[in-house]
Amino acid sequence: MFPWQTSNWQNLTNSQQNKRLGHGLLFHGAAGIGKKAFAAEFTHWLMCEQPLADKACGECKSCKLIQAESHPDLLTLYPEEVGKSIKVDQVRELIQKVSLTSHGLGYRVIIISPADALNINASNSLLKTLEEPPENTILILISDKPSKLMATIRSRTQMVRFDLPSEEQSLQWLNQQNVAQPELVLKLSTGAPLAAAAMAKDEGLQVRDKLFNNWQELAKGNIDALESATMWTKEGFKILGNLPLNWVSSWLTDMIRALQGGQIDSMANLDYAQTLQNLAGQVDLKSMYGLLDRLNDTIRLSDTPANQLMLVEGLLLHWAGLKRK
Ligand SMILES: [Zn+2]
Repeated sequence: MFPWQTSNWQNLTNSQQNKRLGHGLLFHGAAGIGKKAFAAEFTHWLMCEQPLADKACGECKSCKLIQAESHPDLLTLYPEEVGKSIKVDQVRELIQKVSLTSHGLGYRVIIISPADALNINASNSLLKTLEEPPENTILILISDKPSKLMATIRSRTQMVRFDLPSEEQSLQWLNQQNVAQPELVLKLSTGAPLAAAAMAKDEGLQVRDKLFNNWQELAKGNIDALESATMWTKEGFKILGNLPLNWVSSWLTDMIRALQGGQIDSMANLDYAQTLQNLAGQVDLKSMYGLLDRLNDTIRLSDTPANQLMLVEGLLLHWAGLKRK
């Protein structure tokens, strides 16, 4: 487990030892802090025949099967495609497997991730299993957007919250992983260390530079918004999902901070601070708030199958069209 998860580990393993562990657990907390890795490790521990206090033994039959990814009592449910929903047929198939007797004497564990990807039919179909699971069966639901889960699903689970690590813990871990520019990537990933490491590794910083340059050219009126939107969706969103919109959000927040007289060193985008301050100097606070509203709409809608290119073009046009001094 990661160093910031020790209290989660202690709580859950204690609950298990005191027979107070619920049969439906909802692991929730920010994206990019290691919930899935924790779930895998905790599951491994639960299913181990002779677990130690802080890990599975690694030697027993169950451990060997898990290591070989062939334990018949460890079941997982993911969307068939990243970003798509988990469908009712997948849940039915799972329930059918669960209805067969378990293969060993220990636990059977079902991991569902991200649980907010369960669509309405899939959620309904899961309810009964969640309410009355077969003996020795534990469901672990994982989500960074628990409010998107059906209330009836949420109410049948034991909520397990994973906190964002402290900045100090995150930086220490990022340094151990030899991540370049740890302070910057951590700030850009809103304090989530795994997201920060992924960003440094996946050329996230280069993509961000490219998008930010484009953002500046738009302000100068040097470049076409549709052409830019095509580049954003092709290079930014394809690799990094919605993350570029979060970056724009942090650029706007930094600009608003500058307009309100904030100091440069309080900005999240330390490396762009001067440029953002200059950009802020050209516009007024009210139009920045208007743009921020527009961005929040774009973020909300981009979670749906709406036309992403059109949404991004609309946002970039709005930015390019702001009245400047
Ligand atoms: Zn074991």
